[in-house]
Amino acid sequence: MKAADSVAVIGLGRFGGALALELESAGTEVLGIDIDEEVVQSYSGLLTHVVRADTTREEALRQLSVPDFERVVVGIGSVLEASILTTSILLRFERSTIWAKAISEPHAQILSQLGVEHVIRPEHDMGRRVAHLVRGTMLDYVEFEDNFAMVKTRPPREYWDRELGTTGLRAKYGVTVVAVRRSNGTWDYTTAQTVLYDDDEIIVAGPTAKAELFSSVL
Ligand code: ADP
Repeated sequence: MKAADSVAVIGLGRFGGALALELESAGTEVLGIDIDEEVVQSYSGLLTHVVRADTTREEALRQLSVPDFERVVVGIGSVLEASILTTSILLRFERSTIWAKAISEPHAQILSQLGVEHVIRPEHDMGRRVAHLVRGTMLDYVEFEDNFAMVKTRPPREYWDRELGTTGLRAKYGVTVVAVRRSNGTWDYTTAQTVLYDDDEIIVAGPTAKAELFSSVL
């Protein structure tokens, strides 16, 4: 196993486990580590390597060559002390890019203050995402860190049967239509000449509030 190209996933709970399996299915080798023998057993054969260890012990991490991994994910959430201790040891190695899961705002703050580059809050982020879908006419929604979003929605009535370039949509709503899918078709880039129809789906990119507003226009 070449540590540089692989990912170490610490804590194979619901989050870490799903992440590790997804990495493996996409062809990335994974070293999975968990303190619980039963959890380790349940992943044996599914991940390239899976090992039982207590990652709050620096020695254990060294024995597993974790400092050689360029990418490490800490999926320990509910045991706050283990999450913080593990993460601070990894940071001391000064070798890996670290993604760490937080289960609350204070937890996220501590991890950020320690210097973790990527703090993930799966439940919080998913809750926000689903709220956008539940609230309005959005069919799908991705928000990037810097307040920019891409939204899958349907074209508002005022833009049906017209070439996009002639509509002034970007000036009016501050968003760009980047792709379109005809009913039963596949996604394609839009151009100024693209004509939108009532049963199309579109992807709109723009500042979050503007993309949200646009998707609520019928
Ligand atoms: P989830 O909510 O994603 O299921 P949890 O925080 O409940 O995540 O579980 C994370 C996993 O981390 C568990 O499988 C647990 O056994 C493991 N874990 C907890 N403490 C340690 C530790 N010190 N070293 C390694 N793994 C640990």
